[in-house]
Amino acid sequence: MSPGEDVLAALRDVVGDEPFVGLHVPDISELEKRRVQECLDSTFVSSVGAFVAEFERGIEQFTGAPHAIAVSNGTSALQVALELAGVGPGDDVIVPTLSFIATANAVSHAGAQPFFVDSDPETLGLSVDAVAAVLRSATPSPRGPVNAATGRPISAIVPMHTLGHPLRVDELVALAAEHDIPVVEDAAESLGSLLGDVHTGTIGRLGILSFNGNKILTTGGGGMILTADDELARRARHITTTAKLPHRWEFEHDEVAYNFRMPNLNAALGVAQLERLPAFLAAKRLLASRYSSRFADVAGATFLTEPVGTRSNYWLCAVRLEGGRARRDEVLEATNDAGLQCRPMWNLLHEQAPYRHLPHADVSNAQALHAEIVCIPSSPALAAS
Ligand SMILES: *Cc1c(COP(=O)(O)O)cnc(C)c1O
Repeated sequence: MSPGEDVLAALRDVVGDEPFVGLHVPDISELEKRRVQECLDSTFVSSVGAFVAEFERGIEQFTGAPHAIAVSNGTSALQVALELAGVGPGDDVIVPTLSFIATANAVSHAGAQPFFVDSDPETLGLSVDAVAAVLRSATPSPRGPVNAATGRPISAIVPMHTLGHPLRVDELVALAAEHDIPVVEDAAESLGSLLGDVHTGTIGRLGILSFNGNKILTTGGGGMILTADDELARRARHITTTAKLPHRWEFEHDEVAYNFRMPNLNAALGVAQLERLPAFLAAKRLLASRYSSRFADVAGATFLTEPVGTRSNYWLCAVRLEGGRARRDEVLEATNDAGLQCRPMWNLLHEQAPYRHLPHADVSNAQALHAEIVCIPSSPALAAS
């Protein structure tokens, strides 16, 4: 067999022989078309419409979050969540180097600097031990523990549930509490994923979701801020809607704020997608179990399963390959040549142009994960048949 052919054969056995199979294709049915048409007919296409409230209440019910505030995308949701958590200019925020660049960009938009930390190979998420080591070597100050590597106070920790697999946020929250800093969960990829029986994104002080086109539920573009705190929820709503004071006709605004609220048109799509989310989740579990049993027969390839004690949404199914980056690239070459859209993990954030000048912690686990993981076709429709 030529390089990568073994993985290609396993993928073909699971996904069938379509000439092109995308990595994660949105599933849009007649229901979505009806809701969007209803929204268009109402003419309330911007952020004043009823679909936004219906979508928010639906996400609250689904996740168990006491408050959900719909915004324009996951990046803006994270920026606002960080600002509400008290992050500002001069601060450091701990983030995993193994993440999509939005995690770090939101920190920058909030005026702070990301401090990149290693991942746990078991969960693919921020390593609790690595965060503990950073905090152990920090010096207490009124602005928060001062990072020994940068001399700046650490004002928040942003764990990210990688590919939908939950990390141990409960342990991170306990650790952060000892140092009096908040945890803001980037749950952009983990709608439907549980730690124990608690939904990811509802464990830290604030959490965020993304509804970009490639996520498990899409609104075209969109995001959600989750919190149990009544005052933070009120502030989130206020500063994402231009800080306008309620009045029947006056335009009075009490601070410089954002126009970040989700348009009603996008929420209409979200309402329909949310109705179908349980079916998407079931399909993805079925797909994951098919991959898992097929890859048990492929030497040097391990299908990544949910960490013990968690339930993953399997947003992106992935395999970890032995043989380093050369083997990974052979597999990417063979699968993409054959029309199967496979992708590596995102390039590590501490090496990306906007961030490579910053100090960072040891990131050797993340480097190995980056060199060895390939994400494989994960659309729910692949298991619908
Ligand atoms: C998708 C994603 C986001 C948010 O992305 P938007 O495109 O702004 O909605 C944030 N963090 C992670 C890890 C993501 O995968």
